[in-house]
Amino acid sequence: RAKKSGPGTICFFEADDDKSARDRRALQQDLERAIEADELFLVYQPFLDIRKGRITGFEALLRWQHPIRGLIPPSVFIPIAEETGLIHQLGEWVIRRACATLSRWPDQIRIAVNFSAVQFHNVSILQTIVQALADANVSPHRLEIEITESMLISKYGSAPSILNALLDLGVTVALDDFGTGFSSLTYLRKLPFSRIKIDQSFIRDMLTQPDCAAIVKSVIALAQDLQIGVVAEGVETADQLDYLRQTSCDEVQGYLIGRPMSAREISGLLDARPQSVHAA
Ligand code: C2E
Ligand code: MG
Ligand code: MG
Ligand code: MG
Repeated sequence: RAKKSGPGTICFFEADDDKSARDRRALQQDLERAIEADELFLVYQPFLDIRKGRITGFEALLRWQHPIRGLIPPSVFIPIAEETGLIHQLGEWVIRRACATLSRWPDQIRIAVNFSAVQFHNVSILQTIVQALADANVSPHRLEIEITESMLISKYGSAPSILNALLDLGVTVALDDFGTGFSSLTYLRKLPFSRIKIDQSFIRDMLTQPDCAAIVKSVIALAQDLQIGVVAEGVETADQLDYLRQTSCDEVQGYLIGRPMSAREISGLLDARPQSVHAA
C-alpha cells in the first residue's frame, strides 16, 4: 500500500489502484458474458488408486479462455465470481457440464467438482444438482463435491444442512486442502465426509521436513480409523508416490500421475486403455 510520505508516492499508487480496479471491473464484465460466449471449459485431473493401480476418477477444474487476455486461471476469476455472485451461475454450469461428461465415461469413474462457500448461500444448488444428475442419467455416487475447511466455519450457516441433503442424495463430499484451514477435527465428526484430500504443501515438503511427514502419516492413519478415503494432492515425484504407498495412502493426484486434461483427451485414454479403469 502507498505510504503517505509524499505527494508523488500517493499519486503513483492511487493511479495504480485505479488501474487494477478498472481492470477488475473489465474482467467482471467479461466474465458475465463468458458462459454464453462459450469461453469457459473444464479440464480433468486423474485420481490414481495406489493399491489397485487404476484411475478411479477425475477432479474437474475450471478454465477461462479469454478472447484477448488468453487463459485465465481460477485463482484470478473465482474470487471475482464470488464477490459478484456470478459464482452461482458458474457453479451450476460446472455441475451440469461435469454430469454430462460423467454420462459418457465408465460407471466406475467419479468426477469431483469444487465448491465455493458462497454457493451454499443459495439453497437452489440442491435442485440444480438433482436435476443435472437426472438429465444426464448419472448415479449420484459418481459425483463428488470438494469443499474446504474454511467453508465450514464461514458465515454461511446453511452449509451443513445442504451438505447433509447432498449426502442423503448419495453425492459424496471430500474435504479439500486439508491442513491449510483453521482445521478442527470436530468437523470430521459432524459431517460424514467420504474423503480427505491432504493439501499439496504437505506432500511437497514431506520428504525433506520430518514434521510434514508426521502430519501426512497422521492424517492417513486418521482417515483409516474413521474409515474414510484419503487422497494426497500435488504428487510430482516417484519418491513421493513411493512414500505414500508405504504409508498406505488410498489415492494420489498430481502432475506425476497426470496433468489436468480436456474431456476429449481423457475419453481417448479411457477408450485406449479400458482395462486401467475397468480392472477390479
Ligand atoms: P484445488 O481444488 O485444490 O485444485 C488443485 C490445484 O492444484 C489445481 O490448480 C491443479 O491444477 C493444481 N495441481 C494439481 N496437481 C499439481 C501438482 O502436482 N503440482 C502443483 N504445483 N499443482 C498441482 P487450478 O486448476 O489452478 O485450481 C486452483 C483452485 O481453483 C482449486 O484448488 C480450486 O480451489 C479452485 N477451482 C478450480 N475450479 C473451480 C470451480 O469449478 N469452482 C470453484 N469454486 N473453484 C474452483
Ligand atoms: Mg479441489
Ligand atoms: Mg486442493
Ligand atoms: Mg485449493
